[in-house]
Amino acid sequence: MTKDIIRDFTDRFPNSLILQDEPLKKYTSFKIGGPADIFVSPMNIEEFIDIYSYVQEQKLPYFILGNGSNILVSDKGIRGVVINMTRLNKLECKDSVLTAQCGVLLEDLTLKAKELSLTGLEFAYGIPGSVGGAVTMNAGAYGGEIKDCFKSAKLLSKSGEVVTMLSTDMNFGYRQSIIQTGDFIVLEATFELTKGNLNDITARMDELKEQRWLKQPMELPSGGSVFKRPEGHYTGKLVDDCDLRGYQIGGARISDKHCGFIVNQDNATANDVISLIKFTQATVLKGFGVTLERELRLVGEW
Ligand code: FAD
Repeated sequence: MTKDIIRDFTDRFPNSLILQDEPLKKYTSFKIGGPADIFVSPMNIEEFIDIYSYVQEQKLPYFILGNGSNILVSDKGIRGVVINMTRLNKLECKDSVLTAQCGVLLEDLTLKAKELSLTGLEFAYGIPGSVGGAVTMNAGAYGGEIKDCFKSAKLLSKSGEVVTMLSTDMNFGYRQSIIQTGDFIVLEATFELTKGNLNDITARMDELKEQRWLKQPMELPSGGSVFKRPEGHYTGKLVDDCDLRGYQIGGARISDKHCGFIVNQDNATANDVISLIKFTQATVLKGFGVTLERELRLVGEW
């Protein structure tokens, strides 16, 4: 079955990279994750749309992969087709408006804004995601969120229609957007920035990068903050106050640097991470009566 589909993919989409049983740990910031039955990396948006319509036609299960920095992929991997968007990475600028295809990395987007002395995106410097993932998650840091400078996006609907959505239609909330319903895929996003001072922009970006390296376990593989911030609390402090700093299950460990992070200390499996997440949630609930809601998205066959 998979062999036939692979042959079909290769015949139909000769410009795309198509791999069978591709280990997904190569594509996640956690460096964890079993194989994708079929891994497809389209070259351009047109080909992606054709691939998507073929996947829908064949009723194949699929997963849209950005830069893999907010997901935990199961050890068994993902059944069906994983479509990797990171080669869809064109970036354009007109006046103070930046338009980025979904695969553009926030690193490149923020550096481009800086190069053009445009302010508004400094907060996103250092978030290791792609534009598609950042819009999906309404990524944010240091008081800024994607929604603050988001103007519009081109989305692909489930029925294969390309639609343009404005910020007001996106249901942005804390680490939330309409994309999480699974009804749309981000093709490109447009950000409205303002002319700023290059020195100020550079200083702010440098400052934020330094803070990140000081406070977050950037030197070890992780999936970022595991939990959303519970109202009225800081996750890191709650976990620390439960004496879980450095607590380890298998190869997964509560970061010694920031207790809101779980790091892949020593060849952790997805099961190690899940066990540690559950243990942390239960301990914090018991200790402080606070429910920790996961920000990290679980993907694949569990
Ligand atoms: P992925 O992890 O690949 O995917 C995340 C979700 O988005 C998945 O459900 C996926 O299907 C979906 N998706 C991806 N692309 C598309 C698309 N084109 N269309 C539709 N759906 C799509 N996050 C913050 O908000 N703030 C931070 O400060 C922050 N710091 C981090 C620090 C570290 C060290 C790490 C590892 C992560 C951090 N994160 C942070 C989490 C993560 O980087 C962000 O959530 C990021 O926006 C995810 O983007 P991604 O491309 O990696 O998405």
